[in-house]
Amino acid sequence: SQKITVRKTRAVYNPDMYEQWKEAMQSEMNLGKGLDMNEFRLYYQPQVESITHVMTGAEALIRWQHPEKGLLSPASFIEIAETTGLISQIGEWALHEACKQLKSWEEQGLGHLTISVNISPRHFLYHRFEDFLQDCLKLHGVNPANLILEITENVALEDAKLVEAQIQRIRQLGFTLSIDDFGTGYSAFIYLQQFSIQEIKIDRQFIKNIETDVKSRAIVRAILTLAKSLHMHTVAEGVETEGQLKRLEELGCFEIQGYYFSRPIPIEELNKLLLASPEFPFLHLPAPIS
Ligand code: C2E
Ligand code: MG
Ligand code: MG
Ligand code: MG
Repeated sequence: SQKITVRKTRAVYNPDMYEQWKEAMQSEMNLGKGLDMNEFRLYYQPQVESITHVMTGAEALIRWQHPEKGLLSPASFIEIAETTGLISQIGEWALHEACKQLKSWEEQGLGHLTISVNISPRHFLYHRFEDFLQDCLKLHGVNPANLILEITENVALEDAKLVEAQIQRIRQLGFTLSIDDFGTGYSAFIYLQQFSIQEIKIDRQFIKNIETDVKSRAIVRAILTLAKSLHMHTVAEGVETEGQLKRLEELGCFEIQGYYFSRPIPIEELNKLLLASPEFPFLHLPAPIS
């Protein structure tokens, strides 16, 4: 076995590497083609206020309507987009779409609804990102406060001065910033101490066992207490059951997002539901607590 180990560390060429490289290049080409062919879609997952269950907004989640492979989830292409740099183009596309939707809601008298868009760290820190946001606002004429930019804690892996400056510029434009997957990434507290962030999204992992696991519940309670004393808004992700909902309401989480209310759905579907019932657009809506 000694012999094999030595061989392994010395190997400079591995046929798999070429295959991987080829696959990556092909994926990038296909992603670029997908963008050109307008094959990406935003699905919208509603967010509701605790207790009243009034809809407050939605998170935009990207899908790729691939001509051969069908509807692809972001897990299958976001990472490739991030390593190749196409993520900025995809992000810009998503922001344009979200702004168009906000505008259309505004015109329908639904100007209170927000849309959250996921922004990759690389795109967020791109020096022209702020210029793009400014142009985007001008073009669509929407209220930036209704556009929530979701970033992850991993943005803080970059130079803190750079991150802080970028956050300040984006805040000055009037956008709301949210930390996605809170508690799973790097250096959560640095974020809260140094940066102007308005919202925390508690990761699904802490919500999953909130009914049975005292540790999960303790962590969620601590996050909510922390957020409250920092005057930050809170959203729970991945809420699937009535029991989880009840726990989160007891603990004082502000907003709820998850399959319990709705899966991410195409915009036409959401708009149909909103038209029928602007406040409570869900089919299986539990009776609000009176
Ligand atoms: P995320 O931003 O944390 O989004 C939440 C994910 O959890 C979504 O998966 C959503 O469909 C799923 N989810 C929501 N409620 C529930 C629930 O009750 N139970 C379970 N099991 N899952 C639930 P999705 O749409 O597959 O997106 C995965 C990730 O891909 C997102 O996580 C986000 O990090 C990334 N992503 C999605 N759209 C974009 C985008 O436009 N740009 C970028 N850069 N990343 C995106
Ligand atoms: Mg909200
Ligand atoms: Mg998100
Ligand atoms: Mg998340």
